[in-house]
Amino acid sequence: MYRVTSFVLKTASRCNLNCSYCYMYNMGDQTYLKQPKFMSLETVQNFADRLKSYCENAEITHVQIVFHGGEPLLAKPEYFEKCIAIFKNTAPTLAYVFTMQTNGVTLDEKWYTLLQKLNIAVGISIDGPEKYHDEYRVFHNGKGSYTQVAKAIELGKKYNLRGLLLVVNINIPIEELYAEMKKLAVSSLNILLPDGHYDQAPLGLDVSKLHDKNYTPYADWFIGLYKLWKEDRNNRPSIYFFETLVKMIMGQEGIGNQLMGRRTNGVAVVESDGSVEVVDSLRACFEGITRNDINVHNNNLEDLFEDDTFQLYYRAHDEVTEQCLNCPVFDICGGGFLGHRYSEANGFDNPTMYCKDMVRLISFIQNDILNSLPATSVEELGVEPLVYEEIINSFEEESEIKIDPLIQEKLRSFKKELQV
Ligand code: SF4
Repeated sequence: MYRVTSFVLKTASRCNLNCSYCYMYNMGDQTYLKQPKFMSLETVQNFADRLKSYCENAEITHVQIVFHGGEPLLAKPEYFEKCIAIFKNTAPTLAYVFTMQTNGVTLDEKWYTLLQKLNIAVGISIDGPEKYHDEYRVFHNGKGSYTQVAKAIELGKKYNLRGLLLVVNINIPIEELYAEMKKLAVSSLNILLPDGHYDQAPLGLDVSKLHDKNYTPYADWFIGLYKLWKEDRNNRPSIYFFETLVKMIMGQEGIGNQLMGRRTNGVAVVESDGSVEVVDSLRACFEGITRNDINVHNNNLEDLFEDDTFQLYYRAHDEVTEQCLNCPVFDICGGGFLGHRYSEANGFDNPTMYCKDMVRLISFIQNDILNSLPATSVEELGVEPLVYEEIINSFEEESEIKIDPLIQEKLRSFKKELQV
């Protein structure tokens, strides 16, 4: 039984920026070139019809619709008015949460006014202080976009700016990054690990050090940021990444996302031609991995549940490599994002390529929480201090829990040469 309640609509397939790390344009997959530039209103209507029928069948009453791209604000303002009207007229009793992820470069007062009226909450992507942001988030002519983005963030304080999204760049000194967040008076921030896998190193990683047990550059970066954030008593921003980790360590259930935790991944993507697929960030693995023949013009949304890649993604925090099954932080880490586990040698039968970083980071935060609590609360919580080295060394020992051979075969069956 699958349950999808979040739908990412690729209303525009092109972008006015050309970010160097972008999974859509600059990593393994070029299939966006075959997509219409914008999702037609006919496609939106067909999707809304399929959504209504799916939600009725699955007894789903609340859905999230994310306007995404490319860059969604390349469409005209009337486009979004018409989209919202389509959704509300098609399924008036469905409770919608509308959000948009934009690069912010054209987000002016007029756009904010409209998006606020339509009740579309806005998230803006930023990569840190100007000199770092402008190194990666560039226009097609190579010019940086920081000035426009900072202006949109400033303007957003008056409107429905939901928060900022930042892809980790470990080359940014964390003090500079945190000062930037304070300068921009960010109220809410989410942080993503950069796309990459065992055959395509993400930004900032020194591949020659990967086998060094103590090489955890992402964890070191996150720990520095966590310390600054924790010590900030003056209106600190909400940082979803840390808050989720803390809640999971404290035993809260039912939280997590595709990066961590044990929840199922109930997210689907609708491309601008109406194709219904698994999340597009998996495209960083290899060309065509997300492709199937399912389209809102011909298929019910439930047809996606027959798709092998979707099935794997949906259960990605359950069907994991043997090392994860035996890992003491598995319930928090969940084996990481599926796309970060890929290698041509083993398909998805790997821990996340950020494995050591996750062990280090989770151990640090868990121990920090335990140290801040009275002994009686620690006992009630039933959580033990963690020793990084012990966990890393345990990965070399014989596993107690064995992986189901069928699951292992499935994880390994996803390989580039088999798909093309
Ligand atoms: S820390 Fe490593 S071994 Fe543990 S669950 Fe995460 S990816 Fe798997």
